[in-house]
Amino acid sequence: MTPRLDAGQLAARFQSVFGAAPDGVWQAPGRVNLIGEHTDYNEGFVLPFAINRTARVAVRRRSDSTIRLLSTFGNQGLTTVDAGSLSRGTARGWTKYPLGVLWALQQRGLHVGGLDLLLDSDVPRGAGLSSSHAIECAVITAVNELAAAGLDTREMVLATQRAENDFVGAPTGIMDQSASLRGAAGHVLFLDCRSQDIRLVPFDADSARLVPLVIDTKVSHSHAGGGYASRRASCERGAGILGVKALRDVGPDDLDAAAGRLDPETFRRVRHVVTENERVLQAVKVLETAGPAAIGPLLDASHASMRDDFEISCPELDVAVEAARSAGAVGARMTGGGFGGSAIALTPAAAERQVRAAVGLAFAAAGYAPPEIFSVRPAAGAMRLA
Ligand code: ADP
Ligand code: MG
Repeated sequence: MTPRLDAGQLAARFQSVFGAAPDGVWQAPGRVNLIGEHTDYNEGFVLPFAINRTARVAVRRRSDSTIRLLSTFGNQGLTTVDAGSLSRGTARGWTKYPLGVLWALQQRGLHVGGLDLLLDSDVPRGAGLSSSHAIECAVITAVNELAAAGLDTREMVLATQRAENDFVGAPTGIMDQSASLRGAAGHVLFLDCRSQDIRLVPFDADSARLVPLVIDTKVSHSHAGGGYASRRASCERGAGILGVKALRDVGPDDLDAAAGRLDPETFRRVRHVVTENERVLQAVKVLETAGPAAIGPLLDASHASMRDDFEISCPELDVAVEAARSAGAVGARMTGGGFGGSAIALTPAAAERQVRAAVGLAFAAAGYAPPEIFSVRPAAGAMRLA
C-alpha cells in the first residue's frame, strides 16, 4: 500500500510536478458497512461508517480547459485531457473516477474548466472499502468548493452516483458516497435507501475498547458478477409476487404468509433481506442504548443469513468469521457484495493479537493464501485539509 503523504507533503509534490502551489488539499474516506447487506437496492437500511483511510487530492484550477491528472500510485504518468471532450468509455484506470465526477458535473450544467490534480490514497483498493468512492468524494468536495458550485451533500451523492453508474460503468447505489461525504468520527451512518434520510448513530469503538478488524480474504470468486445479478433478480421476483414496490415493504410478520407464495429459494432470498433490514434497525437501537459491544450477536446473525439464506458467502469468508469469533471477536460477518472480499470482526482491543493470529492460522490450515488484516476506526467524512 502507498505510504500516506500528509497535506503539506502532497502540496509540495504538487508544486514540483505542476510548477505552482495547489489551491488546496481535500480528503475523503473509504467506508466499511457495519451491517445491512444487499438491502440497498431493496430500498432498505444500511449502517456504514467512514474509516480512517482516505483519498487526498491537491487541486489547482487553470484558466484554460486542460485537465492534468497524476497519482502517487501506479506508473501511469501524467494524463492530459481537454475538459470539453469528456465522454463515457474514454478514461482509463484510476482517472475514470476524477474524470467521471467532472463529467457528471458537466451533465448537470456545471462546467468547471481546466485543473491540475494530484491524488494520493491509502484506502486499500478492491477490498470492499470503496477506494473508488473515496477518490470521487475527495474530487467533488474540492471542485464544489473551488468552483463555488454550492452543491449540498445530497446533490454530491447523486453526482458521484452518476459518475460511477454512467461514466465508470459500475452499478453502485448511494451508500458508499453517503458514508464518505457524511461520516463522522465515532459514528455510523444510518441510511434509509428509500428516503435517503441519514442519521448519525454513536459507534465509539475506541471508548468501548473495540477494534473493527477488516479481514480481506483476497479472493474474488468467478461467479461474483452473475451471483449479484441473480440475487437482485430474486429480490425483484419476490417483491413482484408479494405485490410490494420493494422488499423494504415486507416485515418480519409477513414472512409466514410469504413462505406459502414463494418457491423455497426465492423465499430464502426474501427472508435474508427482510431479517437484515430488521437487524439494521435493531443495531441502531442497541448502539443508542447499550453501546458497540452489544451488537455482536446481530453481526453473527447477519453472517448466518448471508451464508444460509442469501448464499453469498464462500469458504474463505466463513473461515475468517469463525476463526475471529472463536478467538474472541464479539461478532463477525462478511461485508460487501459477497463471493469473496472482506469480513469485518468487531474485536476487543485485548484480543486483537489472538484474532489476527487465529485467522492467519485458520487460513494456513485450510490451504488458503494469507489474508490481509487491518484495523479501521469510524472517522470523519470528506473535508478540506489545507
Ligand atoms: P473498491 O472501490 O471496492 O476499492 P473498485 O474496483 O470500485 O474497488 O475501485 C478500485 C479502482 O480504483 C482501482 O482499479 C483503481 O483504478 C482505483 N484506485 C483507487 N485507489 C487506488 C490506489 N491507492 N492505487 C491504485 N489504484 C487505485
Ligand atoms: Mg468501488
